Amino acid sequence: MFPEILIIIILSGIFLVLVLSLIREKRQNRPEEESSYLDETDLEDDRTPCPLCGKKLHRGERVHSQIYSKGEDRLMNIYGCPWCYPAHPAGARKPERERRCPSCGLPMKEGSFAVARVFERPGRKMHVHVLGCPVCRNSR
Ligand SMILES: [Zn+2]
Ligand SMILES: [Zn+2]
Repeated sequence: MFPEILIIIILSGIFLVLVLSLIREKRQNRPEEESSYLDETDLEDDRTPCPLCGKKLHRGERVHSQIYSKGEDRLMNIYGCPWCYPAHPAGARKPERERRCPSCGLPMKEGSFAVARVFERPGRKMHVHVLGCPVCRNSR
């Protein structure tokens, strides 16, 4: 009888170790999930080109944008990156690049901005769909 109890104890011990290692694996995966979750609010990740001038942005360079709600919609005003938007909060870079509307391709006037619809899906990367500039949005 005694050896049987021993086998049961050993088996349950192995089971416990397996469960613990599974839990540990899940924990180790979590930081990755969290960092990709952070990317959702980060439209301007370092490999994303500026939507207005197409410049591939370096780490730390950001597209100046403003998210706001209009009724049920989440909208975003896109002003441009430091290379194409002279009034960028981080300061302008030279040489200055031309801003073009991603939708109609026309050069954008000073003080103008592109409007985009923002799709925020829990657990997934934020999706931004450019609607256009004031010129092409009003002509539709
Ligand atoms: Zn730009
Ligand atoms: Zn346009």
